[in-house]
Amino acid sequence: MQPSDNISSDQEICMHFDTGSQPFFGAIIPPIFGNSLFVYPTHEDFVQAENDQQNHYVYSRGTNPTVEIAEKKMAALEQGEQCKCFASGMAAITAAIFNSVKAGEHVLCISNIYKSTMNLLTYMEKFGVTHSVVYSTLKEDIEKAILPNTKLIFLENPTDMNLQLVDLKSIADMAQSCDIRTIIDNTWATPLFQKPLTHGIDIVIHSASKYLGGHSDLVGGALITSEEIMKDLFNKEYLLFGGTMGPREASLLLRGLQTLPLRMKVHQENTKQIANFLSSHSAVAKVNYPGLRSKHNSELNNKQLTGFSGLMTFELKNANYETVKAVINKVRIFKIGVSWGSFESLIMSPNFGNNAETLIKEHVSPGLIRLSVGMEPAEKLIADLEQALEL
Ligand code: PLP
Repeated sequence: MQPSDNISSDQEICMHFDTGSQPFFGAIIPPIFGNSLFVYPTHEDFVQAENDQQNHYVYSRGTNPTVEIAEKKMAALEQGEQCKCFASGMAAITAAIFNSVKAGEHVLCISNIYKSTMNLLTYMEKFGVTHSVVYSTLKEDIEKAILPNTKLIFLENPTDMNLQLVDLKSIADMAQSCDIRTIIDNTWATPLFQKPLTHGIDIVIHSASKYLGGHSDLVGGALITSEEIMKDLFNKEYLLFGGTMGPREASLLLRGLQTLPLRMKVHQENTKQIANFLSSHSAVAKVNYPGLRSKHNSELNNKQLTGFSGLMTFELKNANYETVKAVINKVRIFKIGVSWGSFESLIMSPNFGNNAETLIKEHVSPGLIRLSVGMEPAEKLIADLEQALEL
């Protein structure tokens, strides 16, 4: 399938696909089923439903019609068999990891991944699950870092903070041959720009709090995988942990999906312009953005990424806390804050002035600044950065 076919069919999925099998009185968007439980005409019907909660509406912690519409769309976008939506990206990540490993087993992370995912893995040490990080995206280095008890490889593409690209297919093939499961956090690319299941990755997770929601008014997550893995995960980590997405949040997710293709075009266009501007700025040592041309980027982009989102980082030549602080405090349109992927532009740095050792350990420059490029006019954003970089 050509990328353009992908985009047009994805647009269809985002806007119209499976918006509900019931007519709902002609309502143009599906209603919010706010009920917590569902009743049955007979005890026999109830027993049948209770024994197969994944395929029946019994209790909204398991299945809910509004949430289910969002799940069908997400599964279709990722070209996966099944999806469950969660109360947050972290709830989806927690369910995916707990389903994949048990005491005595080891998780290998490829380069930098989202900080809370790392913290979760550290927390899991109390359950006897260990982890390590290989700060390289080269297949040979990753292969060498596999231990006899490695049962899971966790990755993001591109990686967190340095935005390096990882070859998904070669890692998925290698993992499969060693009986190791693979999970990817696909939040950066969104399902529009990268479909990891088609490269052999086992589980895809998303924070719906970023581009999928897109309006800074939703915290949610999604997990997409095969029917086989989902059957097991639904009855354990989904129903038992209870980190379920509510119907009101699902409705916000559905609203976000309707405009996702249009919003991603603007994020991509704006970010390319900003990345090019920063690349030629005298105060900037390096720009980390997979959308910038390089031989390595082009080879992997052609295989995996059909577009680029709006999260990028750059490194100041004056790589010290004082300069980082001064630049961030000088911007006007970019707002200082966590999270990313919504309409507004955001700026932050992992350099907190007291964590130099951690930055070295994680191979992150002390001069690194992260931008989530929003949908304001690109020229205004560039002018804002230009005045902030004049120190
Ligand atoms: N994955 C990535 C890459 C993130 O940046 C975040 C949050 O910032 C998450 C997962 C967690 O998502 P949530 O905040 O929805 O739990």
